[in-house]
Amino acid sequence: MSNKTYLTLENVQQFFGSYQALKDISLSIAEGEFVCFLGPSGCGKTSLLRIIAGLDLPTGGMVSQAGKDITYLPVKHRDFGIVFQSYALFPNLTVADNIAYGLVSQRIPANQRRARVKELLATVGLSGSEEKFPMQLSGGQQQRVALARALATSPGLLLLDEPLSALDARVRAHLRQEIKQLQEKLGVTTIMVTHDQEEALTMADKIVVMNHGVIEQVGSPQEIYANPKSPFVAEFVGEMNFLEAQVTQSGLLNSGSLHLRSPKNTLAYEQAVRVAIRPEDIRFTADTNIGNIVNARVVHLEFLGSRVRSLLQLDDRETPIMADISMNEMARLELSQGQKVVCQLPQDRLHIFAGAV
Ligand code: ATP
Repeated sequence: MSNKTYLTLENVQQFFGSYQALKDISLSIAEGEFVCFLGPSGCGKTSLLRIIAGLDLPTGGMVSQAGKDITYLPVKHRDFGIVFQSYALFPNLTVADNIAYGLVSQRIPANQRRARVKELLATVGLSGSEEKFPMQLSGGQQQRVALARALATSPGLLLLDEPLSALDARVRAHLRQEIKQLQEKLGVTTIMVTHDQEEALTMADKIVVMNHGVIEQVGSPQEIYANPKSPFVAEFVGEMNFLEAQVTQSGLLNSGSLHLRSPKNTLAYEQAVRVAIRPEDIRFTADTNIGNIVNARVVHLEFLGSRVRSLLQLDDRETPIMADISMNEMARLELSQGQKVVCQLPQDRLHIFAGAV
């Protein structure tokens, strides 16, 4: 990935009638970067991708590529390959003809086309499938063909619109890895739309979290996970426990019977805040002399494969909080349902968001 900017969006807006699907979206994407637009259904991620692809014109704003305004550039003059959720292969064409489709319109000679198709099929792990028809392939294989087709003209930008969401979990996980490796190898700038946080966390160099037509946060997967800027991001990417609290005169966070030390010292007296902590950051302890201790009761234990999730009932709270521990830790603690436990909500693991719900 280089530092050179490949694509810039400036104040992009999209209206459908009186409904504003995108509000002033500004963003820059570096050459070779893998960017994920992540957000819940209806947040505007596909609308934004369609504007970048040139399939829709924005109501306002500008899209530029390498410093050149391409907002109104017709699709056929854009240098991108696109893969949609549904495989969108031509059912009556062979795999080879599907892949070569863009090359034909570029008037590439037949022998070069054949060589390119062969090379692309090897790249996506489907060597020898030239003469098959799409219906003879599995969903994952069809999506590989769609990927090969999108890459056939060696585009500068690869656009992926939920390319894995129609596949079953195993194939999805496998293809996720393959696409990521292929993208790194080719160094092609890539934008992928997804509502799957795991997909975004594992594949992206940069995640753009969207909600209601705005960008909530832009950052690397690590930044987004460790330092979410809003409760929405905190909850949408990974899992989070929330406690409503008020700041005391001495700067503690008061939530029911809890008085927690805050990692922030800029909070105002009586300010309403939401205190958040990830399930894996809660510690089980026997030491009641350390700070930020809570007494709780285990109300449920859930086996999650490599770890165990316990639901902990705090004395004066209706909804339990989630705490995750490894299997080793579980063996050491021997937790059981109904057991009383002492936990620490470590000060440096708390996230503080201004305002009540
Ligand atoms: P999903 O994951 O469900 O595809 P999304 O985040 O991609 O969601 P968009 O498809 O971009 O969301 O849609 C954003 C909003 O704009 C939605 O409320 C949608 O109903 C609306 N919308 C999208 N396309 C049109 C259209 N052509 N006409 C009218 N409204 C539209």
